[in-house]
Amino acid sequence: MQKNQSLSRPSYPAQIPPVSFAEACSILAAQSAAILAAHTFKTQSHTLAQALGRVLAAPLFADRDQPPFPRVTRDGFAVRAEDLANGTPLRIVYQLRAGEPWLSERSPLGPGEAIEIMTGACLPPGANAVLMVEHVQQVSGTERNGDAHRTQQQRFILPQIGRSLNAGENVVPQGSEARQGDRLLEPGKRLGPEQIALAAACGFSSLAVGIQPKVAILATGDELVEPSASKENSGTDVSKQGSPIPSHQIYNSNSYALAALVHQAGGIPLRQRPALDRLDDLAACIRRGLKSAPLLLLTGGVSMGKFDFVKDVLVGMGAEFFFSGVRMQPGKPVTFGRVPASKGRPERYFFGLPGNPVSAMVTFRVFVQTLLAALAGERHWQPRTALAKLATAIHSKPGLTRFLAAHQDSSQPTPTVSPIQTQGSGDLAANARANCYVVVPDGCTVLEADQIVQVLPH
Ligand code: AMP
Ligand code: MG
Repeated sequence: MQKNQSLSRPSYPAQIPPVSFAEACSILAAQSAAILAAHTFKTQSHTLAQALGRVLAAPLFADRDQPPFPRVTRDGFAVRAEDLANGTPLRIVYQLRAGEPWLSERSPLGPGEAIEIMTGACLPPGANAVLMVEHVQQVSGTERNGDAHRTQQQRFILPQIGRSLNAGENVVPQGSEARQGDRLLEPGKRLGPEQIALAAACGFSSLAVGIQPKVAILATGDELVEPSASKENSGTDVSKQGSPIPSHQIYNSNSYALAALVHQAGGIPLRQRPALDRLDDLAACIRRGLKSAPLLLLTGGVSMGKFDFVKDVLVGMGAEFFFSGVRMQPGKPVTFGRVPASKGRPERYFFGLPGNPVSAMVTFRVFVQTLLAALAGERHWQPRTALAKLATAIHSKPGLTRFLAAHQDSSQPTPTVSPIQTQGSGDLAANARANCYVVVPDGCTVLEADQIVQVLPH
């Protein structure tokens, strides 16, 4: 039966030449830009706690000036900066705490006066700067009060000798961070702790965020078995217990790897059961995946093997291929395209990722994530890359962009990165010991030890 199927393969244009890694990235960027240009947010309202990691769906406006009053940034004394030039003591006339209003019946701070003030308080009228408490000496003294015979105990500050103060020092002017009505965040912004903090500072308890894109995940391969429900890792060595599956079969790890990556990238993974390497089963599973989500991730079955039917099935569905094969390692067979709308279902994007587990994960990180960000409505998404000093030289062959499993040590001021021993694109054990990939650019034959290189963190 499988032989017949291979004879009746639809005419997939198998010889589309692979593109360079840079070309593949620009194809992704163009498709993502087109998705974003047409994107309209379907929104949900989420509390600030739930909104973390989601994409903002509506602009965030400043409810009032930020800061809403001239905010004192040091514990000390509100003064007129020019009063320090005299070197004379300044009389403490009030104390003002954070959160305490300035009573309107009080007269503004006058010459020779100081107000003891706390960080976070509102600079009182008449004052134009704050002298830090560390920079003064506090003294007590008596002062004549009106008639010459009555005196009153008073507190004074004596600024340190030579200490000068500029107007505005230790005060953030009202509205200097934002003006009431300013657009502080634009739709399409992925919300991290910093953006949540800003929303809270503006008094919002909930935010409109976009719906998370669903991603259908379909592993393919006759050799795949789902990780067994009865096998629970409790930290004991189970090697003596014997395997519950025959040695020629393997567990489907890709679906779980991709589900984790989708989740981490802010999507909702929909894992399907793995498809068999048969045209009929594969077609049924692909149809189901296309129905359920705007993006379908396939793994395996996209290379040159006799039973690699993924592209054939997609061709049969009228798919358009943006690229099929990229000059990279691992990940060379990776395929990206779109299936046209059919029977009420809109057009769908798909990736045919390589079956090799490390290849599937690398191609997700460098390609799928870009598209997923666009489907979520996230603007200005960028891959998270870093720079590190290479611990040992790497020799490579030109014509390929390579991603080598490596370990980055960031405990020193200049992070260093060391490639790790690996058996290649199937070596999940090595990949799990690593914490990044070293990127070897196309055309580079050697990266020298101590050279600063690009790193793609896990
Ligand atoms: P393929 O791309 O289908 O030729 O598969 C390449 C390699 O990846 C083979 O060794 C497969 O057994 C392995 N592989 C394919 N799919 C998976 C999967 N879902 N989980 C783990 N390994 C896989
Ligand atoms: Mg296969």
